[in-house]
Amino acid sequence: MKKGNLFVVSGPSGAGKGTICAAFAQRRPEVFLSVSATTREPREGEVEGVHYYFLGEEEFKEKITQGDFLEHAVYCGNYYGTPRGKVMEVIESGRDVILEIESDGAMQVRSRYPEGIFIFVCPPSLQTLEARLRGRGTESEEVIAQRLEKAVQELGRAHKYNYLLLNDDVEAAVRRLEAIVDAERCYMPRNIGFINDFIKNKEK
Ligand code: ADP
Ligand code: 5GP
Repeated sequence: MKKGNLFVVSGPSGAGKGTICAAFAQRRPEVFLSVSATTREPREGEVEGVHYYFLGEEEFKEKITQGDFLEHAVYCGNYYGTPRGKVMEVIESGRDVILEIESDGAMQVRSRYPEGIFIFVCPPSLQTLEARLRGRGTESEEVIAQRLEKAVQELGRAHKYNYLLLNDDVEAAVRRLEAIVDAERCYMPRNIGFINDFIKNKEK
């Protein structure tokens, strides 16, 4: 059975990862959007098991020790991690998976799962990023400043990704993500199994 692809959507906080992935998931329900674990407090309207698995710090650390995360990172004072078991199970079943994670985690996945496809979401400018982050209204000024500082570091690693996903306009950005997913499904090195089966059937 052909394995699913692992798409890693990353980039600075406020770049639009959540917005783009949510819209993408609506259009492409066949793709599994992974639900991360975090020690951060839930925001208003966030639902356990839908947006995140909200854990205490001790519980999170225990899961790290048990190797339960494909990757994990501390981001602005909170832990975030991708549940390894679920993601691997879905990939093995042949379904594509999307991780929406920050860049330390993306780089961990890159070294542990190099066949992944790494996508860097970027707004048109740092000024736009700041305006969107502030406009979201979910963080204090102090946290916004921390996240912007972190954004500059994250941009320095953009060259390690396979694709730049410019988020000027949401609709255009979602279409670009769909194009990347479709192209990667057609990429020949991921389809050698199909060709081999084709040849075998011809010989029968
Ligand atoms: P991230 O998940 O990367 O932290 P979000 O998806 O939460 O970013 O987006 C940050 C803010 O910017 C949100 O308020 C969102 O509605 C807004 N936003 C996202 N993409 C765009 C866009 N293309 N144009 C205008 N606003 C956007
Ligand atoms: P937020 O607090 O805004 O939900 O997320 C903060 C940052 O953590 C965002 O950049 C988000 O993409 C990232 N993030 C969410 N889940 C994970 C995860 O499982 N692992 C890592 N490394 N980052 C994550």
